[in-house]
Amino acid sequence: MAEYVLVLNAGYEFLNVTSLHRAIKLLYKGKAEVLEIRPDREIHSPSVTIDMPSIIRLLYYIVSPFREVPLTKKNVLIRDRHNCQYCGKKGNTVDHILPRSRGGKDVWTNCVCACGHCNTGKNNRTPAEADMKLLRKPKKPMYITWFLMKWDIGLLNWNKYL
Ligand SMILES: [Zn+2]
Repeated sequence: MAEYVLVLNAGYEFLNVTSLHRAIKLLYKGKAEVLEIRPDREIHSPSVTIDMPSIIRLLYYIVSPFREVPLTKKNVLIRDRHNCQYCGKKGNTVDHILPRSRGGKDVWTNCVCACGHCNTGKNNRTPAEADMKLLRKPKKPMYITWFLMKWDIGLLNWNKYL
């Protein structure tokens, strides 16, 4: 299983998640420092044993563009964990809560994952008209949340930095 390391900017803001390999390189080159280690892991090489980093911080500030998760079918499915937001079963289509034909917009709060059965059954109606209930109110995902879901990365001990 791949090992991931959380990378923070010099000002402690979340930047991204990187591979252990890249994190070690940054540390080795003196470009980053270790903030947290994984207490359960060590890295062994023939000559040394070092603690495995879990969170590192860059020692120089990089300007990171404000990142938004693009609204695409794939990303809506990732946000909803491929669960139909009406019946909870696996789904692979996107339903517009207020149908497009009736002025529904292509926005995060109007798009949900739906299974073929629910999507076809709902057709050109609102959930109320179709007597269907959304399991949860759809929201625009935060970049980090989406990122972790996309790569199926657990939170490790990152919580306090996110
Ligand atoms: Zn369904």
